[in-house]
Amino acid sequence: MKKFDNLKLCLKNSKDHKTIVEVGNVKIGSGFTMIAGPCSVESEEQTYKTALPLKKAGIDILRGGVFKARTSPYDFQGLGVEGLKILKKVGKELDIPVITEVLDTRDVEVTAAHVDILQIGSRNMQNFSLLKEVGSSDKPVLLKRGMSATLEEWLNCAEYILERGNPNVILCERGIRTFDTFTRNTLDMAVVPSIKILTHLPVFVDPSHGTGNPDLIEPMSLSAVGAGADGLMIEVHYKPEEALSDREQAIDPLKYIGILKKVRKMSDFIITELV
Ligand code: PEP
Ligand code: MN
Repeated sequence: MKKFDNLKLCLKNSKDHKTIVEVGNVKIGSGFTMIAGPCSVESEEQTYKTALPLKKAGIDILRGGVFKARTSPYDFQGLGVEGLKILKKVGKELDIPVITEVLDTRDVEVTAAHVDILQIGSRNMQNFSLLKEVGSSDKPVLLKRGMSATLEEWLNCAEYILERGNPNVILCERGIRTFDTFTRNTLDMAVVPSIKILTHLPVFVDPSHGTGNPDLIEPMSLSAVGAGADGLMIEVHYKPEEALSDREQAIDPLKYIGILKKVRKMSDFIITELV
């Protein structure tokens, strides 16, 4: 196996070495963690109506994008700081931690003041100044894999954050670019057990961006549990057909709750019967 001798902080120092990232009462890396919510925060009503059934169903963390990294400058760019306020308010009302993506070093401080976890998106995985900035924050960071990043490049980016003194890093596989465009991306499920051999950091899977197809979210979620992931991040909208971003891959709360129940059953079975 390849040796990653330049990595000092993200590699395991023993087989059982595992980082648990604590966010409120949620212990990421211990048990199975469900993050769900809309691609974008669009309004307080939309965020609340999406989040309420999810909270009732027992998700652990609410997601919602406010600074959106859109392919076209003409697409919805997110509500910015107004969206941060909405996300914080809804999180507080429902007593659930919240996560959002931060795109720019200049927004790290205000974002960290409103949310519990900072997300670094696929397009920014190797934005080294942003990695250094979130590495100096006291908030945990969920680092998505770049869409054409190797496992080694991804780990080096986690190392940037750890090197700055932030020990709370979560990795998230979200699909990579391959020759096949049938799915939006190719969800690299083999990277989950591969990277978990090497690192003590929790590893998540995002089957929404990973497939771009609502019908593939359930089978890929169950695959992620089987592959040993520590959690899932899934996009849910209370009216998917009206979503302002990533409409095609959004699922409604009812469909999500069906997936959540199966995921919980499968991960409980693995923890109690197989481990
Ligand atoms: C997102 O989670 O909203 C997102 C933009 O994901 P990615 O960075 O994986 O494309
Ligand atoms: Mn999205």
